[in-house]
Amino acid sequence: MSERFFLASTNDGKRAEFAALLAPHGIELGASIHYPEVEENADDYFGNAALKAAALRSELDRLGESATVFADDSGLEIDALDGAPGLRSARYGGLELTWAQRRASLLAELSEVPTGRRTARFCCALLAIDGKGRRFEGFGATHGTIATVERGSAGFGYDPLFLPDGERRTFAEMSAEEKARVSHRARAVRALLAAMDR
Ligand code: IMP
Repeated sequence: MSERFFLASTNDGKRAEFAALLAPHGIELGASIHYPEVEENADDYFGNAALKAAALRSELDRLGESATVFADDSGLEIDALDGAPGLRSARYGGLELTWAQRRASLLAELSEVPTGRRTARFCCALLAIDGKGRRFEGFGATHGTIATVERGSAGFGYDPLFLPDGERRTFAEMSAEEKARVSHRARAVRALLAAMDR
């Protein structure tokens, strides 16, 4: 039977990016599988990714499906905020906020921070657990700055605020292909596939 692959994520933006990054390597992600919600309370990104992987793994075991599971945890770290939102990126400012409100509240928090001190990085910790239970890891980071106003409508989450180093456009002003050339997620995928020898 051919090898099957599943991603532990309910975030459509991330899922689309992972699917596009993995497809050229012959890895076609299976349909999204619903698994019980995980409380992401680990101390680091890999810890949270492991919690998501374990939740999806047990759901696949229940379905009698042997497969490789991918799981990631990512976040935006802003130096002027001592690394916040970081691990709390998905819920920063409160779960009830829309993404437009979350970005606006982050910009308001940074309103006094001058351009030269708006440095930040996106991080992505990605792991894979194959059908034999072997675990592989890849980490990626992309450095940049936080714009003073949001720009662009592509992508998801904090994309309209993030200017990768060497670029005048935010992630949300780039095409999916352009973002994939420099993103933290692309770097994590490359590192992971090297660790898996694929
Ligand atoms: P988690 O990894 O699903 O726990 O959430 C990380 C959060 O960080 C996401 O909900 C996004 O808001 C944010 N994030 C991670 N990667 C990106 C990205 O490439 N663009 C914009 N926001 C991102």
